[in-house]
Amino acid sequence: MLRLAIQKSGRLSEDSLTLIRECGISFVSSSYKLKTEATNFPLEILFLRDDDIPGYVQDGVADLGIVGQNVLVEAGGSALEVEALGFSKCRLSLAVPRAAAYQGLADLQNLNIATSYPKLLGSYLAERGVQAQLHTISGSVEIAPSIGLADAICDIVSSGSTLLGNGLREVETVFRSEAVLIAQPNLSPLQAELLEQLRFRMQAVRRAKRSKYILLNAPVSALDDVRRLLPGIKSPTVTPLAEPGWVSVQSVVQEDEFWHITSQLKAVGAEGILVLPIEKMIA
Ligand code: ATP
Ligand code: MG
Repeated sequence: MLRLAIQKSGRLSEDSLTLIRECGISFVSSSYKLKTEATNFPLEILFLRDDDIPGYVQDGVADLGIVGQNVLVEAGGSALEVEALGFSKCRLSLAVPRAAAYQGLADLQNLNIATSYPKLLGSYLAERGVQAQLHTISGSVEIAPSIGLADAICDIVSSGSTLLGNGLREVETVFRSEAVLIAQPNLSPLQAELLEQLRFRMQAVRRAKRSKYILLNAPVSALDDVRRLLPGIKSPTVTPLAEPGWVSVQSVVQEDEFWHITSQLKAVGAEGILVLPIEKMIA
């Protein structure tokens, strides 16, 4: 049996639950329960505050956890990371009041900086030779400058709208983060085997999300061009159409290049292009 700790309620919760379900693991969850058991995989899920997850996994109270790298590294647990999960992407940034003159890191010398990430910020500044006074506060960091608590702040940013709303300007990126799967260091051989099964499923889900299934018709004369544009996993599947001189081609394209590729496919003569989502993709 594996125990997986995920965030009870917050920015990681929904994506964590979705990922587990997309791995084919079924369970019942309700907002008041702190623990649930999967019905078709030897997995117990614990719902905790995200800050507590690295410590619980380090101590083996939970075997696995899903947490932001920002929280993991701040807790000194980076060695526990086993798999990047690609969601909850954000950055830890330094910001100063909009009106403050800022040319570079040297302008932070001897300032008071409020943050919930003293360790990450401390090592970032130390590596760059900047001395500053760090004030550790656990929330509402953005208001610190306006109430006179600090000259600058260092906090998690994704769109930047919260900073803007508090009259702040983002000036440096200290750390880039995403959600990661972590594992305790002393899994039993059976648990290690279950972890590998889980990672295999997670990787298949992620690969599928990044890929699209593409179907199209093309004249045989365009086949070389089409094959060049669509290498596929091994090579595209080509089947003849009832209409002589035409083939149907099936392949896989990556999400980020698919607009570019479909327009080139049209240019070489492809027609009836269909693009479909892929549910799972096994390497
Ligand atoms: P808890 O009550 O569990 O301690 P919290 O308030 O500390 O929750 P959240 O705000 O829910 O934490 O954020 C959890 C994690 O989500 C952060 O540590 C970070 O990794 C990521 N995150 C934070 N803000 C954003 C954002 N704006 N966009 C995407 N991911 C974010
Ligand atoms: Mg927290």
